[in-house]
Amino acid sequence: MEIACLDLEGVLVPEIWIAFAEKTGIESLKATTRDIPDYDVLMKQRLRILDEHGLKLSDIQEVIATLKPLDGAVEFVNWLRERFQVVILSDTFYEFSQPLMRQLGFPTLLCHRLITDDGGRVTGYQLRQKDPKRQSVLAFKSLYYRVIAAGDSYNDTTMLGEADAGILFHAPDNVIREFPQFPAVHSFAELKQEFIKASNRPLSL
Ligand SMILES: [Mg+2]
Repeated sequence: MEIACLDLEGVLVPEIWIAFAEKTGIESLKATTRDIPDYDVLMKQRLRILDEHGLKLSDIQEVIATLKPLDGAVEFVNWLRERFQVVILSDTFYEFSQPLMRQLGFPTLLCHRLITDDGGRVTGYQLRQKDPKRQSVLAFKSLYYRVIAAGDSYNDTTMLGEADAGILFHAPDNVIREFPQFPAVHSFAELKQEFIKASNRPLSL
């Protein structure tokens, strides 16, 4: 039996914080872990900015609902789900990803959670566990599943390394250079081929 693990942002949907910052014009929300390496510092800054703009969770979800999955992503997920059990492993939050997951047909998603107060203000966040993507792959392997994983960035590389086969998709050049052990592709057509290659079953397009 085989499970396909996919990263979400940058693979199936746009980077949610960046897209949200663009839609709302709030430049300061474009900071990422590249600008502020400490994730907790970065998240606290993001939540403070949301507060300063009086944005509640429902406002944020309304903006995110106007975002679309990447071109070809819906068709790809449907293709993959006919051939694998698909699990999306993401560092996003359920509350943010919901409008985009709806457009993808709500595949299984393991990610983090936001904490809100009674008025819908986002007050904090709860990470699922440390190194969550790799831990999920380990857990599936302990159930005797073969795991094929695809992701685009540094936060995916431990997942790709732990999987029976790892694939870089839409990855920037520096990530491709640093992790030459993973095949790197840039279109959903190529990604389908990589999944077929990595599978131990005779799959076809
Ligand atoms: Mg990503």
